[in-house]
Amino acid sequence: MLTNLQQQPADALLALIKLHNADPRTDKIDLGVGVYRTGQGDTPVFGAIKAAEKKLAETQESKAYLGPEGDMGFVEALMPYVFGKVDPTLGGRIEGMQTPGGTGSLRLALAMVKRAGVRRVLMGTPSWPNHAQICADLDLEMAGFNHATPDGTADMDALREVLRSAGEGDAILLHGCCHNPSGIDYENDEWDEIARLVAERKVLPLIDLAYQGLGLGMDEDAYGLRRVLVAVPEALVAYSCDKNFGLYRDRVGALYVMMGEEAQLAAAMSNGHALARANWSQPPDHGAAAVRLVLEDEALVREWLDELDTMRERIRQVRSRLAAAGKVGTLDLAPLGGQNGMFSILKLDKEQILALREKHGVYMAGSGRINVAGLTLGNIDTFVDALEEVTTG
Ligand code: PMP
Repeated sequence: MLTNLQQQPADALLALIKLHNADPRTDKIDLGVGVYRTGQGDTPVFGAIKAAEKKLAETQESKAYLGPEGDMGFVEALMPYVFGKVDPTLGGRIEGMQTPGGTGSLRLALAMVKRAGVRRVLMGTPSWPNHAQICADLDLEMAGFNHATPDGTADMDALREVLRSAGEGDAILLHGCCHNPSGIDYENDEWDEIARLVAERKVLPLIDLAYQGLGLGMDEDAYGLRRVLVAVPEALVAYSCDKNFGLYRDRVGALYVMMGEEAQLAAAMSNGHALARANWSQPPDHGAAAVRLVLEDEALVREWLDELDTMRERIRQVRSRLAAAGKVGTLDLAPLGGQNGMFSILKLDKEQILALREKHGVYMAGSGRINVAGLTLGNIDTFVDALEEVTTG
């Protein structure tokens, strides 16, 4: 029976990690895997999380089941950061639940919209590959539109065009900030227009916020999300704490649902809970409990936000250095300075990407996506020289 299962393609990024690990060169550069790295190339546990974990180990008295919604203290403590301080529940119309990472949240959100009768998911491409994989797994039709123009800005014409022919029964998946893989985010005035168009066309927004605080700042990175939410009756937010709390393998995320009226929340959330029960029953506790303990302690909040500031500043510093290199062979690195978050795409072909790896020990995804946090002030020049060499022949 099980021999009916067909071989699936290997995950390209995981294969790249293996290749990188096996490379004995000490000056190799890993721009593949999507984790933040310090100037020393490490991905450390946040100090605030270490402190919270210590507290958790000392004070947690039971690991009994919590329920499919997970740690609601965590879910609620996060809301002011996501939705803003004044009324983070938008008049009681938003409720959340804990999920295993942003991926778990997206999975639930897309399963919910499918249950609700959504037929198509509009999505700017390229996108994080798992978006398409989850839609395909749920048999949800996708309507792709071009996310970015060749000059490195968001392709608003493509977005306007796809929304013109969209309507009720369509959802749109939007990256709240730090677009993966392009780093190209919407400007605030573009978000204003998106909010208006999505509301006009009655398209259901699903906003993926996986890098809050790593782009321009905690509030700045939530501008689009907040703008869209005040414009529409219903929306979903898939949130990940895996980057902005450095908890990747602990799988910390939340799904927030906004309904037109508070009274409609219970029915909607009961679907979220039932779907969670059928998928993973309950989310893993540890990471979310640690985030809750950070958010409940003013000093730890300050420490966490300081750590996040340091990360964001480092990313911006690397981006400025790359942008300052300007034209490099056939590439123009200048736009990287205005892009946000860890990722950008370099227009390189397969041979050039292979040459970077084989000749220069530079590892990046086959799409040309680079994790700029994989660069340090010590190796940027080497990287830029390698780019120059492979693009000029
Ligand atoms: N959305 C985007 C755009 C992402 O890049 C990622 C992670 N790479 C996620 C969601 C999911 O994050 P998590 O690791 O929390 O599942």
